[in-house]
Amino acid sequence: MSEESKPNNFIKTIIDKDLAENKSKPVATRFPPEPNGYLHIGHAKSICLNFGLATEYSGTCNLRFDDSNPAKEDNEYVESIKEDLKWLGFEPEERVYFASDYFEEMYQHALKLIEAGKAYVCSLSAEEMREYRGTLTEPGKDSPYRERSIEENLDFFKRMKAGEFEKGEHLLRAKIDMASGNINLRDPALYRIKTACHHHTGNDWSIYPMYDFCHCVSDSIEGITYSLCTLEFEDHRPLYDWILNELDIHHPRQIEFARLNLNYMVLSKRKLLELVEDKHVAGWDDPRLPTIAGLRRRGYTAKAIRNFCESIGVAKANSTVDIGMLEFSLREDLNQVAQRRMVVSDPIKLIVENYPEGEIEELDADNNPNDPDAGKRKIKFSRELWIEREDFLEDAPKKYFRLTPGKEVRLVHAYYVTCTGFEKDADGNVTEVRCTYDPSTKGGWSEDKRKVKGTIHWVSTEDAKPITVNEYDRLFAVENPSEGVEDYKENINPDSLKVIEGCLAESSLLECKGGTPYQFLRQGYFCLDAKDSSSGNLVFNKTIGLRDSWAKAKSK
Ligand code: ATP
Ligand code: MG
Repeated sequence: MSEESKPNNFIKTIIDKDLAENKSKPVATRFPPEPNGYLHIGHAKSICLNFGLATEYSGTCNLRFDDSNPAKEDNEYVESIKEDLKWLGFEPEERVYFASDYFEEMYQHALKLIEAGKAYVCSLSAEEMREYRGTLTEPGKDSPYRERSIEENLDFFKRMKAGEFEKGEHLLRAKIDMASGNINLRDPALYRIKTACHHHTGNDWSIYPMYDFCHCVSDSIEGITYSLCTLEFEDHRPLYDWILNELDIHHPRQIEFARLNLNYMVLSKRKLLELVEDKHVAGWDDPRLPTIAGLRRRGYTAKAIRNFCESIGVAKANSTVDIGMLEFSLREDLNQVAQRRMVVSDPIKLIVENYPEGEIEELDADNNPNDPDAGKRKIKFSRELWIEREDFLEDAPKKYFRLTPGKEVRLVHAYYVTCTGFEKDADGNVTEVRCTYDPSTKGGWSEDKRKVKGTIHWVSTEDAKPITVNEYDRLFAVENPSEGVEDYKENINPDSLKVIEGCLAESSLLECKGGTPYQFLRQGYFCLDAKDSSSGNLVFNKTIGLRDSWAKAKSK
């Protein structure tokens, strides 16, 4: 993307201003996922932003696992996040951190807050806490434990750490203002008791910092200069600032930006986990999911995702991006990089009557007309071929430019052929189509510049190998799956996967590797599903069609 056509990024304006005023140290950002699920396309936006700024300003970007909730986190997620990040093209190298490695330092900071009279141990039950908190329109009430002495608070907190209490018995709370208009400042919890085993620290800890405490202290410890987060944290910023001010430690600047929302998708880890656990999809890497693992398996390229993230810009107001934009970036990249192959998905036989029986000819075919380095491959031509059933019509309307008796078409990369007839079975189904070829049109071009309107793909019966194709539709049938229903799952599209067996491919496709994009001529983009394929049965996932027929249909 050229510099002028890049969409706005208000964060860069802020950084430029800080740099011009000499206010900022080198740019240090971080991407802080909680390892409680796989990354999705929304995370990709945050990754591209954080790592992108670090590159652009010659700064650094950390990958930090924000792992302060042992109950939901798992090492499987840690590993998948690292893998996805790498695949997207971002390498944090040695800059991989765990918030849980800072637990001891955080604990010391919590003790300091208690000693300064800025935090106290509260023993209200969860229900009482709710009652005392007040509402958006009414102030809260001070907890009866708010005035515990510093000594008592220190004693309780140390005993919480020592595992002397049950979950929920006590909390460490910041002492701020129960009447604040911002509920986040009404003595928010800083530490809670949890007994679950933590994926990184095992059973070392019985208390865990709350997100708001953990996050800002981790940012500070890492010397982050710009702490970029999504808009829902705007109301938490005063707490972020309060904690760091009270502790008087390095204070990054928190800047909020709009989350990515896409229509026809859900982008919440909770919902994605539910779809996986309830088996609405075949796992986190199901090609219908907006997870990075799912998109990769579907055949998305990392470049297409990065370009998409760049094209949507970084704004301060939430909005929903049309999935068509993501698909546009995808087609744009695939068109450049995908190798072309021929596959017939609903085969019917074409007999070339004047082609010698038993002869097999090898013809040259461009692997990718958009990439001169992609080279050519040999394809076999013979008297019997497979073509698509829909490329022949017995009684064709005037505008039908494919095969019909008397009409001439181009067999791509091969010859011009003229339809001479067809056979039908007892039920009236066409069983084979017959034609003659013009030997002077080798390669699919005629010397006399005779024009044919139709070009169709084909595979020689001498070369065809069966493959299975998975075709996908949207996982949700409506633009906003969560709108107007109690449960977004009601909007799941029951026909989002169609498995088509017995498609016939030119044999060179059998040498393909997972992760390589292909264009099946006239059909769309596909990639091998390495996980579902076996040596006897190659399975291909349809990444996307060639044209945006969905958008066209919608605008009709
Ligand atoms: P979810 O709401 O799906 O559970 P999350 O925000 O809890 O996501 P985290 O693992 O905490 O997930 O996210 C890591 C980073 O990615 C955070 O900085 C978060 O703001 C950012 N992020 C998450 N979802 C999106 C999104 N849809 N668009 C942009 N950034 C996102
Ligand atoms: Mg989060």
